Amino acid sequence: MIEIKNSENVKEFEIFGELAKHHHEQVIFCNDTEVGLKAIISIHNTMLGPALGGTRMWNYASDMEALNDVLRLARGMTFKASISGLNLGGGKAVIIGDAAKLKNEKLLRRFGRFIENLHGKYITAEDVNMSPDDMEYIAMETKYVTGLDESLGGSGDPSPVTAYGVYMGMKAAAKKAYGNDSLVGKKIAVQGTGHVGMHLLEYLSKENVKLFVSDLSEEKAKAAAARFGAVVVGESEIYDLNVDIYSPCALGATVNDNTIERLKCDIIAGAANNQLGDDVVHGKRLIEKGILYAPDFLINAGGLINVGINYLGGWTKERVYKKTEKIYQTTLDILNLAEREGVSTQEAAMKLAIKRIEDVARVKRSM
Ligand code: NAD
Repeated sequence: MIEIKNSENVKEFEIFGELAKHHHEQVIFCNDTEVGLKAIISIHNTMLGPALGGTRMWNYASDMEALNDVLRLARGMTFKASISGLNLGGGKAVIIGDAAKLKNEKLLRRFGRFIENLHGKYITAEDVNMSPDDMEYIAMETKYVTGLDESLGGSGDPSPVTAYGVYMGMKAAAKKAYGNDSLVGKKIAVQGTGHVGMHLLEYLSKENVKLFVSDLSEEKAKAAAARFGAVVVGESEIYDLNVDIYSPCALGATVNDNTIERLKCDIIAGAANNQLGDDVVHGKRLIEKGILYAPDFLINAGGLINVGINYLGGWTKERVYKKTEKIYQTTLDILNLAEREGVSTQEAAMKLAIKRIEDVARVKRSM
């Protein structure tokens, strides 16, 4: 018999409190001690369609940290799918543990069985520490997987499409800030020269911009600098640069209490998820500082558009890039809406995403 202590009862209530706060629909805890699988699937909202979002494998410090991460990420996917006009809901999964030590066929296929048991309510794809090869193992046990390798009929690496969307969003922000979307002569700092960062640098270098790059890996930063004629700057130095545009393409929450006062740019536009440490506080501070922020979940949606269309059907490269190109106009619309309503650009984007979900809910209720 499982002994339920008082303290555990308190925690149970805290979890439901967390779910209620942002209206998460369902959370599934997946456990198989024999194969060493501990995973959490979070389904935030399925009004528009099945919840699509990648699986991340991470060595979380605690189970609560993992839960927190998966809840936050799933909610972000709801906004991203909605604002991108996709008939998809928001979800995400995390596998707890050190990918280098624990990830193997058995674990991934067992995780696939858990997804299959949800009968399509959640669809998975790649995320941090998961590769197309890992997706192939998951796909052996479930059809609810997307983002497989192109050789298997999948849409392949999403990074080039994501970078294209970020580039579109950045140009739209330039149009709003400077009255012209040309980036020629602008000074742009790209933080993170990984998959998306490198593709973005490729677009930017064609516009003759003055590029600055930083990466935790000196080797990667140097390779980017050599290829695109960029200047390598330090991990912290990037926040103090006198640049026109700061593009976070590494990790989240880099726009926070510590960095925001140091930034001298006119525009923030990058690929990283959850760039604002706090949506409300930092969204407002950016308005006060006169920095135009292109909302992350809007401009980094190219990857989701790619895997989403791949799952929903009718995927062609042309269609995906055409839909991703629309990020330019949506960004402009949102920047204008935020200005008109005197709210942060993040708030305006969230408002629009929620409105679409509510509109569709109304349509679905009608006869
Ligand atoms: P990646 O892992 O290929 O690249 C990230 C790079 O950032 C790495 O080279 C890493 O060394 C570097 N980095 C980490 N911490 C850093 C720091 N403090 N300063 C400087 N560099 C640092 O990841 P990616 O696929 O290029 O994705 C980049 C970001 O965009 C991530 O936040 C990801 O969640 C987000 N994103 C990616 C996609 C996609 O299609 N890949 C889609 C949407 C959002």
